[in-house]
Amino acid sequence: NLPTIYVVTPTYARLVQKAELTRLAQTFLHVPQLHWVLVEDSAHPTSLVRDFLAASGLTYTHLHILTPKDKKLQEGDPSWLKPRGAEQRNEGLRWLREMGVAAGEKSPAVENAVVYFADDDNTYSLQLFEEMRYTQRVSVWPVGLVGGMRFERPVVEGGKVVRFHTGWRPSRPFPIDMAGFAVSLRLVLANPDARFDGEAQMGYLESSFLQNLVTMEELEPKADMCTKVLVWHTRTEKPKMKREEALQKQGLGSDPAVEV
Ligand code: UDP
Ligand code: MN
Repeated sequence: NLPTIYVVTPTYARLVQKAELTRLAQTFLHVPQLHWVLVEDSAHPTSLVRDFLAASGLTYTHLHILTPKDKKLQEGDPSWLKPRGAEQRNEGLRWLREMGVAAGEKSPAVENAVVYFADDDNTYSLQLFEEMRYTQRVSVWPVGLVGGMRFERPVVEGGKVVRFHTGWRPSRPFPIDMAGFAVSLRLVLANPDARFDGEAQMGYLESSFLQNLVTMEELEPKADMCTKVLVWHTRTEKPKMKREEALQKQGLGSDPAVEV
């Protein structure tokens, strides 16, 4: 019995959502003992996501929580102004703690389980999940194509993380992208107040969570002592709808009954 990996993913409705979720789900299908906690940024669960999950073949939990309007990025705001997905990751943590307390520390669902926060647009190697599976407290690894760099990573000396290779504010408590760490569920349960600060300054969202859980010295370096890139902070281009809009004006738009 392998330790369970709980993957918490914030997601929101947009043209590319189903494409992103399809790529993600088909990666996760290759990972044994993975439980997907998909958290919609919405007031209600959507039928697109509900039907998608039901047909996915994955073990999952479907949650939703709407980001309050004052915490949401507005059209035209620079993307760094407010963190995205913070409320949804916290909702995932809430569910994990509720589940964990109900099941008990020694239950197979909790013992040795791992929590990973996986955005819906990144690219994940299958090897990444085996690297994180035996996390004791917090494990870390490089992230490719992030922070205006080829990669960012923890720098390991003598088997320990001693600093971080990053292009921006290395003085942050944990200058690590969301995709660059996993946490043991036991640690999440032992620290019931640890959460993501939705008001955190740019670049401090990960630190707001991790600084209550570990110290740099305690980090467990994975992926060959942080020398391998197994996850990429890819971002999907917003599709252009110029022709769709032009055709809609003539009543010739694509059939809205077809789900994309
Ligand atoms: N997200 C969300 N609500 C939003 C914007 C983003 O739930 O209003 C989710 C998104 O689906 C993704 C995560 O939050 O899983 C991070 O967002 P994004 O990938 O846009 O951020 P970036 O790539 O800029 O870090
Ligand atoms: Mn992203």
